[in-house]
Amino acid sequence: MASRREEITIVGGGIAGLSLGIALRLREVPVRLLEASHYPRHRVCGEFISGVKPETLQKLGVEEILSDSESLVSTGWYDDRGSVLEARLPVPARGISRYRLDQRMAEKIVELGGVVEEGTRYRTEGSDDAGVVLSTGRPVKKGSEWMGLKAHYTALPLVQDLEMHLGKGGYLGMSGVENGRVNVCGLFRRRSDLKVSRETALQEYVRAVGLNDLADRLEKGGQDPESCVGVSAFTFGYQLEKESPYLRLGDRGAIIPPFTGNGMSMAFESAEMALDSLVRYSEGKVEWDTMQSAFDQALRKRFRRRLGVSRLFHPVMANRVGRTFIRGAMKTRCLPFEWLFQKTR
Ligand SMILES: Cc1cc2nc3c(=O)[nH]c(=O)nc-3n(C[C@H](O)[C@H](O)[C@H](O)COP(=O)(O)OP(=O)(O)OC[C@H]3O[C@@H](n4cnc5c(N)ncnc54)[C@H](O)[C@@H]3O)c2cc1C
Repeated sequence: MASRREEITIVGGGIAGLSLGIALRLREVPVRLLEASHYPRHRVCGEFISGVKPETLQKLGVEEILSDSESLVSTGWYDDRGSVLEARLPVPARGISRYRLDQRMAEKIVELGGVVEEGTRYRTEGSDDAGVVLSTGRPVKKGSEWMGLKAHYTALPLVQDLEMHLGKGGYLGMSGVENGRVNVCGLFRRRSDLKVSRETALQEYVRAVGLNDLADRLEKGGQDPESCVGVSAFTFGYQLEKESPYLRLGDRGAIIPPFTGNGMSMAFESAEMALDSLVRYSEGKVEWDTMQSAFDQALRKRFRRRLGVSRLFHPVMANRVGRTFIRGAMKTRCLPFEWLFQKTR
């Protein structure tokens, strides 16, 4: 007979928390997942999954859930002067909406006998911390200059599977998700002079960063108003500055700039990294404190290179001098696309 196992409480049901919940249930670990909002739900995300290895998805038990995602291979980079680069991704990316993906993963946890409590916000940090995993996404950093905006479009033909557009003070990606929809998601420097509504924000910001032709395209693209969401007050890099008794996964551990399309991969990877230790903790074979501090160190080591390289390029993407540099370097192949792709994964 299997011995009794400690329950793991997962706080936050995004990519990291949900995939971890599935993987733990597949190993018969009791799981209680607390999610502040409800499924299905649109989220600010490029919905472009790139860099995660099939073995990781298999180990987490989410491969089947992603099996009907779009396969995205061709990419085109543009600025306000036109095409900068066309390339094929060395490894195809996957396109699926967070609306669909997160709901599927939450349902899978329940199907496997786990508990998912929607509409439940975890607040009592510091009370009983052993066995609690924080996968709460981007920590709020007031004063941050960045904001993310996203919307789905139903009639927006794309030239490549992924179009990346670089503007003055922001950039955005456009790629396919299910049902012929195109997800448009951008990162912009916040502008206090722009007065926008939820539905017009994305198009207004696209215009404000000098991408007028693209804004015209979006206006004709059949925006789904329900899918318009925004987020602000976050920074990039490690989010582990304060000591914590919790295991911190996904964006709660480290945030990579979105032009890489690697944030969700990092969330899956961090869930995979935590998995075996959590199973052992649940079986009473390892102390929580020992496991927790070793995990922070492992996370720093695992993501150091990709965070370093992407933070170097990120500011460059959104200013004129930087974009001129990128345009020249990519056209003359001084900056091989494949090199940048590999180093940010
Ligand atoms: C503009 C932009 C574009 C992006 N594009 C891409 C892309 O194309 N590809 C890619 O791979 N990544 C992209 N990312 C990054 C990607 O969205 C994140 O890396 C990923 O969502 C991280 O997953 P997570 O599970 O850590 O957090 P999240 O997916 O943010 O989930 C966190 C969850 O925790 C819940 N929560 C928070 N606090 C509490 C609490 N106290 N109690 C209970 N629940 C709580 C939230 O409601 C949320 O559901 C983008 C990010 C931005 C900002």
